[in-house]
Amino acid sequence: MPVVEPNLILRLGTHAEKEYFDKTLRFFDGLAVNANLVEATPGATASLLVRFGGKKRELPFYIDPMTYAFGEYADRKGVLRRDLDWIKSDQKRNGELIRDYKRSYSKLANQLGDPFAEALERNSSVTWNDFNDSNIESACSQVAEYQLHRIAEEFSSDSELVQFIDKVPRPVAVYAPYFYIEPSNENEWLDLNLRLATTTARNITSHPVHIMICADSSFLLNKKFIERIKAELPSTGVKGVWFWFSAFQEDSASIEHLTAFRNLVETLSDKVSVYSRHGGFFSMALSKHGLSGLSHGVGYGEQKDVIPIIGQSTPTVRYYLPQVRRRFGVPQIERCFDSLEIKTPKDFYKKVCGCVICKGIISDEIHAFAEFGEMHRSTPKSKRLAQTPAAAKRCRYHFLLSRIAERDWIKSASNEEIIGKLKAAAELWGTQTTLSGGTTHLERWQEVLK
Ligand SMILES: [Zn+2]
Repeated sequence: MPVVEPNLILRLGTHAEKEYFDKTLRFFDGLAVNANLVEATPGATASLLVRFGGKKRELPFYIDPMTYAFGEYADRKGVLRRDLDWIKSDQKRNGELIRDYKRSYSKLANQLGDPFAEALERNSSVTWNDFNDSNIESACSQVAEYQLHRIAEEFSSDSELVQFIDKVPRPVAVYAPYFYIEPSNENEWLDLNLRLATTTARNITSHPVHIMICADSSFLLNKKFIERIKAELPSTGVKGVWFWFSAFQEDSASIEHLTAFRNLVETLSDKVSVYSRHGGFFSMALSKHGLSGLSHGVGYGEQKDVIPIIGQSTPTVRYYLPQVRRRFGVPQIERCFDSLEIKTPKDFYKKVCGCVICKGIISDEIHAFAEFGEMHRSTPKSKRLAQTPAAAKRCRYHFLLSRIAERDWIKSASNEEIIGKLKAAAELWGTQTTLSGGTTHLERWQEVLK
């Protein structure tokens, strides 16, 4: 198992996040963009990538082909759905409300061709039966071609942009098509995912091919599944694997789940590069046990469910408490200040955070910390208070800067030093009753990283 420096990949969720990328992307090790975002705004995404790619160092980037969105899924009630409803939305057509595919996904299906386009037409998801000897090669090459050429294509079709075509960055790796491994048909889905990876790796020789293993977190404790992954994945010919265990949260996961993840990383990293699709501090610490990198979004998403939560209001962006490696509400943290003797801005920089955002907000007195949790009524009619956009922005910038600092520190720290830091944090912050229950992961992580 190699000890590696963790690569930190920032995932672009929406174009509204552009400013965070402008200011912080150069401190990250790469950028990931989902194909549905490319299709929603091809021109804007392409020029953004060229702008970032044109900076003095070539920035590694990935296009996630999002093929799983055309597969089946179990909804929140555990019901198996093949109706593709999760990529549909209510739309107004000629004054009538209808439910139809989101434009970005129907464009993506057309780009990827069959069996994706076919599935949308028949209104039922892609299944393992849709791939056979006669179409699997073409389906895999279409998905690879998409990642390699979609951005350049956008430039060549525009008379003004075509002059920049040489500046268009190419992805550093190509993802094989992948689908959510749904528990009631685990063998069929796993077989298909491995076969799609084998086919892509055989045909694409210009770029390393990566596989995405997207499955429910319960699979971490499924011995048969884990043994198959360990035994069969390396022989597909892929150079890298990204794990996405839906609903796997590093800070609430049990010792058993965390240990299983560590073992998986350790075993596979001898043969392929291993990445975590939605990772946090624990994933970074696993770089001492072979993990090559992780990706996450701007200020949320250290864990992500495969099934998006529909109709949820914008959540409050909480403050990432660097020593505890987890987010908390601002009042929760404030109530610890007295007993931890955090009385002046200097105390704050030393014991909580000294990043430029925190120093800018808390320059004269400690009470300014409340600005990270500032609330307002977003409209005069709003009944409930919501976080102000400025406060959410402060929390996100502070989080990104904290994450970069963590990555830099982990690079030079030993496994023992990482465990020591977690222990010290547990001793200090774990005694704080207002954080109760929110620091227990520190003990579990120490145990698993030993
Ligand atoms: Zn800070």
